[in-house]
Amino acid sequence: MSRDVPTDADLRARVIAGCRELTRLGLTYGTSGNVSVRRDSSSLFVSPTGMAYEALEPDDVPLVTLDGRSFGRRRPSSEWRFHRDIMAARAEVGAIVHAHSRHATALACTGRGIPAFHYMVAVAGGADIRCAPYHTFGTQELSDAALTALEGRTACLLAHHGIIAVGADLPAALRLAGEVEGLAAQYCTALALGNVELLDPRQMRSVIEKFRTYGRQDLTDPALRAGGEDLPSRGA
Ligand code: 13P
Ligand code: ZN
Repeated sequence: MSRDVPTDADLRARVIAGCRELTRLGLTYGTSGNVSVRRDSSSLFVSPTGMAYEALEPDDVPLVTLDGRSFGRRRPSSEWRFHRDIMAARAEVGAIVHAHSRHATALACTGRGIPAFHYMVAVAGGADIRCAPYHTFGTQELSDAALTALEGRTACLLAHHGIIAVGADLPAALRLAGEVEGLAAQYCTALALGNVELLDPRQMRSVIEKFRTYGRQDLTDPALRAGGEDLPSRGA
């Protein structure tokens, strides 16, 4: 195996670290929420169902194949279907995080998604973050609804339930889950103040375009000249 292909032990350890990070970030409580990482084009590691994150050991993390088989000493998360279905439908996804974070879940309990109230909504890939209709946890119906809500997006809310965030890797999915929870908290606050104004589609298109290159250090801004690494002396 090449040096940069992570071992199964590495991937299992990442799932456990991801679960603990969900708790540390205050995004979930107890055994609510779950995490998966892709192993290859036909399988993924998924956190086990109903186990306290602190007690997890690598061998507690089962492998699930896209054709619906589970390997290992524990049963996978009750939400293995949406983890499996998202990985199957979205080749670019390397990790998935599900949480019952406070504000996103509160919004989802009103049936609301997150509209373009703030430009950062584009962080999930589009002009809004949708809310999938309610279905019982762990069902194929919930997975189907989640997949639809995730079309063209990297995050969605689940009505009366929580959030899903996906990414190329686990740090990206966790970061996005935190961003979505933060946006949900801001939106809840704005709703309480009343008269929330939304950005229009043109404004959001401009943000989505800028996000394509956001944070790149190799790009130059024609209005900003490079002055070198040494600072100029202070003016009078
Ligand atoms: P699991 O413990 O089975 O992962 O379930 C937690 C959950 O959030 C179900 O939606
Ligand atoms: Zn859940």
